[in-house]
Amino acid sequence: LNKHTGGVRTLSTSSHRAQSVMQAWVIDQYGDNSVLRFTTNAAFPVLHYPNEVIIKVQAAGLNPLDVNMRGGYGAATMAMKRDPLNINKSSSEFPLVLGRDVSGVIMECGLDVGYFKPGDEVWAAIPPWKQGSLAEFVVLSANEVAHKPKSLGHTDAVSLPYVAATTWSALVNTGGLNKDNCSKKRILILGGSGGVGTFAIQLLKAWGAHVTVTCSQNAERLVRSLGADDVVDYSSGPVERKLCDVDKFDLVLDNVGGETEKWALTLLKPWSGAKYVTLVTPFLRNTDQLGLCDGMMQTAVTIATKAVKHLSNGVHYRWGFFSPSGSVLDDVSEIVDTGKIRPVVEETFPFSQVPQAMQKVEQGHARGKTVVTIA
Ligand code: NDP
Repeated sequence: LNKHTGGVRTLSTSSHRAQSVMQAWVIDQYGDNSVLRFTTNAAFPVLHYPNEVIIKVQAAGLNPLDVNMRGGYGAATMAMKRDPLNINKSSSEFPLVLGRDVSGVIMECGLDVGYFKPGDEVWAAIPPWKQGSLAEFVVLSANEVAHKPKSLGHTDAVSLPYVAATTWSALVNTGGLNKDNCSKKRILILGGSGGVGTFAIQLLKAWGAHVTVTCSQNAERLVRSLGADDVVDYSSGPVERKLCDVDKFDLVLDNVGGETEKWALTLLKPWSGAKYVTLVTPFLRNTDQLGLCDGMMQTAVTIATKAVKHLSNGVHYRWGFFSPSGSVLDDVSEIVDTGKIRPVVEETFPFSQVPQAMQKVEQGHARGKTVVTIA
């Protein structure tokens, strides 16, 4: 029985709702920041399944994916996820609401939801094929939602779910790490100063790993304050030269991509089960450019070719992906409440300044997360 959806059945779980519209930032077409439109007339979310909940959004978090999705990135795959059987041929994804992190309060529960009740304070990472959190309310499956850490307010809490779910999926599901097997492991994080990096450093240190991080020189203080043991500045010359002189690694988490693949796998301990896990993959780009079928085929060929090539050198090549999970967020919540992981909020914007918040994310050079207060 899934604790998020099973348990006591209730007949009425709604706090009384009079609205049929809500405030939201939407896009009606793909493009640059000018496509963002504020409306007081967005459709109020509806419970379509008995395992869903409606959350009143208190704060929303932004990720690079929001900027990319604003420009149409991943549109082909998201359309397939929204309508797998292609039944609604004429349906459009617009108006589309961005924002992948939510922290808020449960307002209404479907009849099968026993784990939450109206009034519960929750957080979630919203799958990219669902309407996002730059709105007053959002509807999610209960198994994507968790109670938020008690020690954090909504603005801090919302900085974590999407990067936490992504990091967990990459390190645990793909990389095979967990709290019990990290103590003697050396981990390299390429790109330690952004959303994923600042979370990954703290999770790995909470699990006892030795953590080496690459970042630019002006982020060294931040990543050290989060627990990084060794820091390599990439802005003062090729990191690969500096890294080839240190002991080899059990796992590389790559948040940078591009040229890194050419050298990062040589830093792994060969024939020991060591893994390279990259979050920068061509999967969505392939399906956007080639269509779903050919894009997936191309993706499968690419990953298989690379995995085989690197396996012959004794190391494992993997792609990591975001995966929504309320139960992972429950585990993260526990660690946060012990004080071993803290939010790294770089800048907070009011709901009226969503375009400025998106612009901030688009400029890059993140030092932690950009968040938006909604309520
Ligand atoms: P952020 O934008 O929050 O962080 C990126 C960080 O990398 C910045 O701090 C940036 O700072 C730093 N950086 C840039 N270039 C380098 C470099 N050459 N070496 C070291 N650091 C560098 O992104 P996220 O942490 O949220 O995400 C990281 C990557 O993972 C993104 O490409 C994102 O798209 C991807 N991702 C993929 C997911 C998936 O499902 N596959 C899910 C989530 C994220 P500075 O430029 O100042 O050095």
